[in-house]
Amino acid sequence: MVFDVESIRKDFPILNRKVNGKPLVYLDNAATSQTPQQVIDVIVDYYSNYNANIHRGVHALSQEATDAYENARRTIQSHFNAKHPHEIIFTSGTTHSINMVANGFASLLKKGDEIIVSALEHHSNIVPWQMLCEKTGATLKVIPMSSEGELIISEYDKLLNENTKLVFVNHISNALGTINPIENIIDKAHNVGAAVLIDGAQACPHLKPDVQKLNVDFYVCSAHKICGPTGIGMLYGKEEWLQKLPPYQGGGEMIAEVSFDKTTYADLPHKFEAGTPNVCGGIAFGAAIDYMNTIGFGTIAQYEDELLEYATNELLQIQELKIYGTSANKTSVISFNVGNIHPYDLGTLLDKMGIAVRTGHHCAQPIMDFYKIPGTVRASFMFYNTKEEIDLFISALKKSIMMLS
Ligand code: PMP
Repeated sequence: MVFDVESIRKDFPILNRKVNGKPLVYLDNAATSQTPQQVIDVIVDYYSNYNANIHRGVHALSQEATDAYENARRTIQSHFNAKHPHEIIFTSGTTHSINMVANGFASLLKKGDEIIVSALEHHSNIVPWQMLCEKTGATLKVIPMSSEGELIISEYDKLLNENTKLVFVNHISNALGTINPIENIIDKAHNVGAAVLIDGAQACPHLKPDVQKLNVDFYVCSAHKICGPTGIGMLYGKEEWLQKLPPYQGGGEMIAEVSFDKTTYADLPHKFEAGTPNVCGGIAFGAAIDYMNTIGFGTIAQYEDELLEYATNELLQIQELKIYGTSANKTSVISFNVGNIHPYDLGTLLDKMGIAVRTGHHCAQPIMDFYKIPGTVRASFMFYNTKEEIDLFISALKKSIMMLS
């Protein structure tokens, strides 16, 4: 397919709006992506035509909603190449998915067990494991990073041993954009009998993970980073692991039979989906995956790499500008600072000129501590951004620097 960015931009109504009287240049995609009309239409259609509670409803609306929700699960299964649809658990997002696994492992770990995270993690892949260690007496170990923002795999090798029970690493760092060598990390963890959870929140907008090929035990992501709505995401788990873990929440939908003496749990995936789910969100998540696949992940990656290279070269022309995360293996995220200017000041001035970037620690304080900085300005690109937008961003950035110097 020929990539025609102007026609793709027409799918995103929000890209037409102005901010502070200037055309919006949206470069905060790593925080949340924008939503195409095709997905908005699915949401409107759901609430206009077949809004109903799902599973076990005998009436037509309930059956239509159930079919659409379960079809979305199969779309997601096929996208990630999971073996079974019931290995896809709908959650409210990456954070919820990680907490579900951490909670499950509380009953499987004991004092002396070790779990490994990486120095490049988002807080949502640090805090739940610290809570798990407090509950179980297990110890948390950290794979260190280099100044280029890459994980030091020779140090990972030293951390692995027969006590290692779990390894948690993000596929792509949200703060720096580094693509981590997860195939290698997964294989090495399996060699010592540890399970692996990969946080795919930042990877799924840019590439198409194959969970069977990766042989990963758990893979998690959020729909709002992949052109879907907020409040919905996925936990992929290998069937044998999902069978082994206890349910996260008790309630309706997740039971087989309930009496005051004993409750038995429903089969997968319902065991992990207590209560009325985000039905519309699940259906829209499936529609978002369909939309991205229509463009194609090969095409998306190639175009975003061009944007990354173009923006990096332009930014490096600016005096005193330092980019954090310089791995050759990175996606379209650029984190930077300029001299002693506070990132928040730059972000505020850029906003006045219609440019949306993120500033701060990006929920990755250990990375900021590593570089001894309070935060960065982060510009992150999706396939609907253009070189012209990057030019507007660079010129607004130069103006902001002048005003603040
Ligand atoms: N992990 C990574 C790498 C992320 O980028 C994010 C979102 N910034 C999360 C986890 C958390 O995702 P959510 O807020 O959608 O649960």
